[in-house]
Amino acid sequence: MTEHLMTIDGERRSSSDRFDVINPATGEAFATAPEATAADLDDAMAGAQRAFRTWKLDDDARRESLRQAAAAINEAVPQIATLLTQEQGKPLNEAMFEVMGVGMWLQYYADLQVEREILQDDDAAFVEVVRRPIGVVAAIAPWNFPLLLSSWKIAPALRAGNTVVLKPSPYTPLSSLAMVDVLNRVLPPGVLNVVTGGDALGAAMTAHPTPRKVSFTGSVSAGKKVAIASAADLKRVTLELGGNDPAIVLDDADPTVVGKALFAAAFQNNGQTCIAVKRVYVPESLHDAVVDALVAEAESVVVGDGMDEATKLGPLNNRPQFDRVSDLVAGALSSGARAAAGGTALDRPGYFFAPTILTGAGESSGIVAEEQFGPALPVIAYRDLDDAIERANATTYALGASVWATDTERGEGVARQLEAGSAWVNTHAALAPNLPFGGLKWSGVGVENGTWGYKSFTDLQVVNRRKK
Ligand code: NAD
Repeated sequence: MTEHLMTIDGERRSSSDRFDVINPATGEAFATAPEATAADLDDAMAGAQRAFRTWKLDDDARRESLRQAAAAINEAVPQIATLLTQEQGKPLNEAMFEVMGVGMWLQYYADLQVEREILQDDDAAFVEVVRRPIGVVAAIAPWNFPLLLSSWKIAPALRAGNTVVLKPSPYTPLSSLAMVDVLNRVLPPGVLNVVTGGDALGAAMTAHPTPRKVSFTGSVSAGKKVAIASAADLKRVTLELGGNDPAIVLDDADPTVVGKALFAAAFQNNGQTCIAVKRVYVPESLHDAVVDALVAEAESVVVGDGMDEATKLGPLNNRPQFDRVSDLVAGALSSGARAAAGGTALDRPGYFFAPTILTGAGESSGIVAEEQFGPALPVIAYRDLDDAIERANATTYALGASVWATDTERGEGVARQLEAGSAWVNTHAALAPNLPFGGLKWSGVGVENGTWGYKSFTDLQVVNRRKK
């Protein structure tokens, strides 16, 4: 069996303690990952701190390294994607797409033109706003898109001159170990490190004196802990947290077309997407037709092991998430909702749950009010559009939201009233390397991607030279 190793200060390292990695399609362990010790973490931080001294000096060299890093990842797609499917559960072609996304983000930040910001240059003075790298970045990632979401941190942080210590989720450590291994073939030692372990390791990173910035993607509850821990020595933070994205269908929409599109937007990655559609508001007149279209999709989609070519939806990633989705659906059904499709776990090994469409769930039921993060979608009828907008906004989450309409200008008018970091019309989860992405309210602090993401890995300095 291959031993999966951490990369610390350019060296590959095991640990005497290892933890099991489960294949969610079987529910059984298929490999182990090293459990980083406190000394491993100290070494990773020290290596990153040393590497920072030279890495921060030469932007052209960093751009060249990132270009080479993108090429190295693109060559390793099949090998990394296979590990990702085995530990995460997603279909292999989606895993390959995710790894290719890492290459895309590295290339984007290699190519990004960063303009100098000179405010004054005349006889009296030269004044420039300079973006300085912050130092060592602690990057903490979740299990749903472990590689892509890590690259949203690694690529801009490195381009800006920082060095990084990455911690993947304990549910998906192997693909990140493999990714960092590949990247370290072209990066100088210590620039990018990876340590693996549980939530306590993440907490140790946020409490560690070395990092000057924490970039965290995960749940709201862990994000709040990260913010509190980072406040102790005023580390900068970016928090990308949970969502409960509403989709509002307007009364001029084509229910068949919209039903198909909403299914894709809600069930992508088996619903385990921060910006999946998590509740749908439909006018009473279109309710049954939209539900029928969703049910047709739910009943025909192929659910199975991500390694099978026919599979479109894999299992849930882990036992606690499987239990959570099962409980939310059971809770909704016991308080009067109806399962128009699915409603139960599938009778087979692994963490499989039938694609579920629920009608009649109350606004305060868990499946509507909380983030289900799984393959179960509540459809809620509305009579009055203003009321639907109010209900869509009546939550502490504010990550993404979408409006579905034939009259797209009217749709945009509604989208602008939605409290969300991204408001889409006739699409959902439309992301790109150059688009800023982040949450309002409890869905996050700060943004990733584009020049905004780059700047979030810098401190701003004013250089002011009087010439007379
Ligand atoms: P999680 O918060 O349980 O864990 C995320 C990471 O944080 C893991 O690596 C974990 O080990 C670590 N961690 C846990 N407690 C910590 C602590 N106290 N200090 C430091 N690190 C800690 O989240 P998850 O279950 O892995 O991921 C699912 C959640 O992530 C969902 O809520 C989802 O919406 C959210 N998410 C958000 C985005 C976004 O961009 N906004 C993207 C993907 C996922």
